[in-house]
Amino acid sequence: MSHILKNIRTLYICPAAGAADDVGAVDRAAIAWDERVIRWAGREADLPGEYANLPREAIHDAEGTIVVPGLIDCHTHAAFAGWRAEEFQSRCCGDDYRTIARRGGGIAATVRATRKATEEELLERTRGFLRQMLSLGVTTIEAKSGYGLTVADELKLLRVYRRLNEDGPQRIVSTLLAAHVVPEEYRDRPAEYVRLVCDELIPLVARGRLAAFCDVFVEETTFSPDAAREILRSALAHGLKPKLHVDQLSDGGGARLAAEVAAVSADHLEFANAEGIAAMARAGVVAVVLPLASLYFRTRPADARRLLAAGLTVAVATDFNPGSAPTFHLALAMMLSCTLNGLSPAEALRGATMGAARAIGLADVIGSLEPGKQADFALLDAPSVVDWLYHFTPNACRRVFLGGRPPRQ
Ligand SMILES: [Zn+2]
Repeated sequence: MSHILKNIRTLYICPAAGAADDVGAVDRAAIAWDERVIRWAGREADLPGEYANLPREAIHDAEGTIVVPGLIDCHTHAAFAGWRAEEFQSRCCGDDYRTIARRGGGIAATVRATRKATEEELLERTRGFLRQMLSLGVTTIEAKSGYGLTVADELKLLRVYRRLNEDGPQRIVSTLLAAHVVPEEYRDRPAEYVRLVCDELIPLVARGRLAAFCDVFVEETTFSPDAAREILRSALAHGLKPKLHVDQLSDGGGARLAAEVAAVSADHLEFANAEGIAAMARAGVVAVVLPLASLYFRTRPADARRLLAAGLTVAVATDFNPGSAPTFHLALAMMLSCTLNGLSPAEALRGATMGAARAIGLADVIGSLEPGKQADFALLDAPSVVDWLYHFTPNACRRVFLGGRPPRQ
């Protein structure tokens, strides 16, 4: 059956073929869909005749809100146990991550807690996060493993994501991030851990169809570019597409590495060099900026203007995790991508819709409100996208449609 949403103050189509700041705004608009798929979007006055006599239950009133594509958080670490509020406290008082790591804190602390948690406990906790993300207008989430760091515990995390994707309502895209840090028990023999990931874990993940992507955290304190090459070569051989965490705390040549391995996205890029950025543009790698991590860690934010000037597609995400970004508020990350990374509000909107869809390989399915795309959209109580990100309120999202209907909660 066909449905329409009318009385839209402004519809932001975010066309797939548009430039970085092209949000395709249409005033006094309507949108029409069949089942789950958008069939038409435009000025309400131009609504095709076939939608003129729909039954009352198929006509939805936007009540003068603005409508944007369902938001896509293309970089999260959503399944983990415990919090690390005491580290937040000590960082605010001047401790750096090395001091915190020496005390047994940091990622290692979350790994210990996550290994102890059952699959059911992690499932219910993550489901709670997703429910709140949905209320903010987030309809698709990329979610990484990386707090298990044993074969069994990484598989446990990926099974949590698979079950959440099957249960819905949101779409979950999973990424294996076994190369997050070298686990404590392998501290003196990191090469053996890399072999475990390549020879045991990746084949099991591929066989179980538990992830679409494989990610590596490349940093002086985590994995070298050579280790990343080895892991991503194995991942590609098993059908997992590469992603990378690179150049967050120092210029480790990560941007060039992302181009070399044809990563779908390279995330962070705070210290990426010009040559690497140019190589990423030639290779079509999406740049994902994560301003919440810069804000929480008081580190240098990525220069998104430089990334756009090089011709890159720029996406914005939360990096939701218990250490560097302990909030899943994507609209807050979008606002910060304007104030810290230098995006315009229009570029931030595309960064969390069309750009984010590209970063997770779903540009043909979601990310814009064009015919053929999934009918995922959020109704926001704001005069415009600029007003939404400028006069920032706790939550401007009034309603969400996912696959053409209000999601069951
Ligand atoms: Zn991350």
